[in-house]
Amino acid sequence: MSRLKFQLEGIASYSRARAGKFQTLHGTVLTPLFMPVGTQATVKAQTSQTLKECDSQILLANTYHLLLRPGAEVFQRLGGIHRLMNWSHSVLTDSGGFQIYSLPHSRKMKEEGALFKSYVDGKLILLTPELSIEMQKSIGSDIMMVLDQCVSSTSDLNQALEAMERTHRWALRSLKARGESRQSLFAIVQGACISELRKQSASFLTQFEFDGFAIGGLAVGESKAMREDFTEMTVELLPSHLPRYLMGVGTPLDILEAVHRGVDLFDCIIPTAHAQRGVAYTHQGKVQLRRTAYKFSEDRLDLYCSCSTCTLYSKAYLHHLIKSEEVLGWHLVGFHNLFFYRQFMREIRQSILEDTFETYYQSKKKNLLTPESHRTEIYLQ
Ligand SMILES: [Zn+2]
Repeated sequence: MSRLKFQLEGIASYSRARAGKFQTLHGTVLTPLFMPVGTQATVKAQTSQTLKECDSQILLANTYHLLLRPGAEVFQRLGGIHRLMNWSHSVLTDSGGFQIYSLPHSRKMKEEGALFKSYVDGKLILLTPELSIEMQKSIGSDIMMVLDQCVSSTSDLNQALEAMERTHRWALRSLKARGESRQSLFAIVQGACISELRKQSASFLTQFEFDGFAIGGLAVGESKAMREDFTEMTVELLPSHLPRYLMGVGTPLDILEAVHRGVDLFDCIIPTAHAQRGVAYTHQGKVQLRRTAYKFSEDRLDLYCSCSTCTLYSKAYLHHLIKSEEVLGWHLVGFHNLFFYRQFMREIRQSILEDTFETYYQSKKKNLLTPESHRTEIYLQ
């Protein structure tokens, strides 16, 4: 029996979109869900209070970065990430697998693990599946991820096969290391953009008692169409009674497309990272606040958003803060983006439960694809 007790609550007609719920050590989680990224035990420019205000259900933290700093002992002595951050909802920890992919020049691959040179003090660290799980236990996350070897989605057959087979061996070592812990553990399906490998990976990993499955190795270099095809293909190979998580995705449109293909969980740095550059996601589409068009605009950022950024401040003020690179601009736009993503996921879930997802999907997709310049012209008319 899965530790998360995932239950399906609705499946949309003419789509694989589904609504569900599951139980972590810190409460009930409703899906589909977007998880804000808090790599260093902080979602950039937000506080745990503002994250609660935008009703974030699960935060994502990163094992590799937290292992280097502040280190396991801080979490062990201070009662885990929930107490350290003053965060009472759920936490999912990535395993360090993505850093194996994204920091290729500071690590060497071995069967035992990945040998990293720490960017904090230069020490060598052998990140094994066992060390990753031990660290995730110290962090005290609700959902842990297996250590995997992610390769570019455009890798050739030999490279992708070798990484996938190692990922499978590491997944079993991770499962063994998890043992009787009450923390849940997700496996990660790899196989780049090679259908046969994706099939092999899913059929191998689904034989074991993981609490959910992630689709890894996408959003790392392939086209949007390929990502959608491989998401759809992989989802079909996963059991319907467990949560499915598409790692590192994405924009509102990417999420909408993946929900349509049967994915339940998402994470991405976009809402907070793009906020720093003044990019906001709104019910009117993407807004680039740096544009001179907003210099004198007394309009609210999003006409249909009730967040404090939208109710208290004008686009002109946000434009000024972003142009001046003030931290407050990053905070306010990031807060709105997280609020918008949460609202967006609620709308999606509601439409699945009411079985109107197909109509919602078509109209939302059209809205998300309308370019900003065109929308601005409409406003000016
Ligand atoms: Zn807002």
